[in-house]
Amino acid sequence: MGTKLAVPISAKGVGGAKRQIEFAISAGAEVIELRVDYLEKLTAESVGELVGDVKSFRRDMPVIVTCRDKRQGGEGNYAEELRVNALIEGLRAGAEFVDFEYENFMRGNNRGRLEEALNGGRLILSAHNFERKFIDINDLYQEIRRTCPGAIPKLVYTANHINDCFDGFDLLRRADGEAIVFCMGEAGLISRVLAIKLGGFVTFASLDEESSTAPGQLTIKEFKDLYRYDCIGSDTEVFGVIGEPVVHSMSTAIHNACFVEKGMNSLYLPLLVQGGKQDFEEFMDNVVSRGWLGFRGFSVTIPHKHNALEYVKARGGLVESLAKRIGAVNTIVVGDDGRLAGYNTDYAGALDAICGGLGIERDGLKNMRVAVVGAGGVSRAVVAGLADAGAEVKIYNRTVKKAERQAGEFGCEFAGLDKLVDVRAELVINCTSLGMYPETDASAVAREYIREGMTVFDTVYNPPETLLLRYAKEAGARAIDGISMFVNQAAGQFKHFTGEQADKELMRKTVCECLANK
Ligand code: NAP
Repeated sequence: MGTKLAVPISAKGVGGAKRQIEFAISAGAEVIELRVDYLEKLTAESVGELVGDVKSFRRDMPVIVTCRDKRQGGEGNYAEELRVNALIEGLRAGAEFVDFEYENFMRGNNRGRLEEALNGGRLILSAHNFERKFIDINDLYQEIRRTCPGAIPKLVYTANHINDCFDGFDLLRRADGEAIVFCMGEAGLISRVLAIKLGGFVTFASLDEESSTAPGQLTIKEFKDLYRYDCIGSDTEVFGVIGEPVVHSMSTAIHNACFVEKGMNSLYLPLLVQGGKQDFEEFMDNVVSRGWLGFRGFSVTIPHKHNALEYVKARGGLVESLAKRIGAVNTIVVGDDGRLAGYNTDYAGALDAICGGLGIERDGLKNMRVAVVGAGGVSRAVVAGLADAGAEVKIYNRTVKKAERQAGEFGCEFAGLDKLVDVRAELVINCTSLGMYPETDASAVAREYIREGMTVFDTVYNPPETLLLRYAKEAGARAIDGISMFVNQAAGQFKHFTGEQADKELMRKTVCECLANK
């Protein structure tokens, strides 16, 4: 039937539940799950009333009745007999599905009572592991299918790392639509979205954050507006940003907005890869070895840009020479034949932001005196670009040794931050994290060092107008914000991913909306 979007109703009273039902259906729910264990005064009659309410609203809206055991994540602590009665009443009132815990199903006369009441309805038999992944999820799935061939197994577990999700993907792929499988927690987010691509029976979304019934559950709005629920199919191509943290990454919003604008059957996900090189490699091996997942490209951010470079090299992929020189890959493309290619779009993103802000071509940077403050990852890409363009670069950094090393590599001068006092540059660039949200009252360069006629470029983009840029405007200097670089590097990635030009105005607008909602 294709994966359906199920919305749990988790109100404490019947009146509240009815309001939630109405809201869920109007927001686009395709299945209503009545989590009647959330009711403070559970009676079998109230369950029948709620099923009737859904059906009077939309006769063809499928209903799942769930009255979860407290030990498996239930809300109220109801006796087993009442819980079974609630499900039986739900079936009598016309619910298509009832969800019961597999381990309880096998106890006493629960199985007999539920099977007798089915009357054309179907059982969902569930198992949860709130601590970690199942020892053998496939065995558990087979056991449930053997025991009760008509039932839909629902296997839900906590992913402690994104790499835990792949057991679930392998099972979903084999289950042929007859399974509900996903992972809880932030590391499991992708499993809720990819369940659609892999044909899970349903995936769950909450009405809003307050009515969420499981850790990591997305809201219906996030599913529809951000994660392209209505377009995902088995042939959807998948992209994503690998990093830690990524949950608030704006890359997800801007790439998905461009896919929508171009009418592409593509999806972009935040890919939280915690840990170091080994975890990164394991994640990449997991996706690359499962071509059927449809991953075609990755943005890579802190802390994995160097790991990405090493990985693509080690797997015999192509790494552009620029990325090698910078020592960082921020874009990986998976070719049709599975071959990898690594690029760095920060370099061009920064250069284009500078040239666009100054209204010059790249050769206009020749012999320009530039002060780059900071000697981290972004600084490397900026300095490499400026050095190539023939600018006279001096790197200022808190840790002078790092500035010295970087200056040696790119043929520039270096100094400590205390030497900014006599900065003589035409262009000053902040590549430190100073001024970034939430510490917005910090500036890498003091107000008195900025003079009229200078240009100041701040790579920090949250907030769009940093304290440093306010100083620049007050001093009569030209200001270039970090959003321009962010958009340029993302547009470069989009081109590598799709071969098409991104709409940069749309990207900028999306970034500004994301920042305004933070
Ligand atoms: P990074 O590799 O961790 O480097 C951080 C830099 O900031 C280092 O030079 C560090 O100095 C300096 N720094 C940090 N705290 C400081 C402090 N309290 N006082 C003085 N210096 C300090 O980070 P990155 O990847 O280069 O990112 C830097 C910033 O660039 C980010 O915070 C982000 O806002 C911005 N960014 C912009 C874009 C864009 O597209 N516009 C993309 C990515 C990042 P030490 O070497 O002494 O530690």
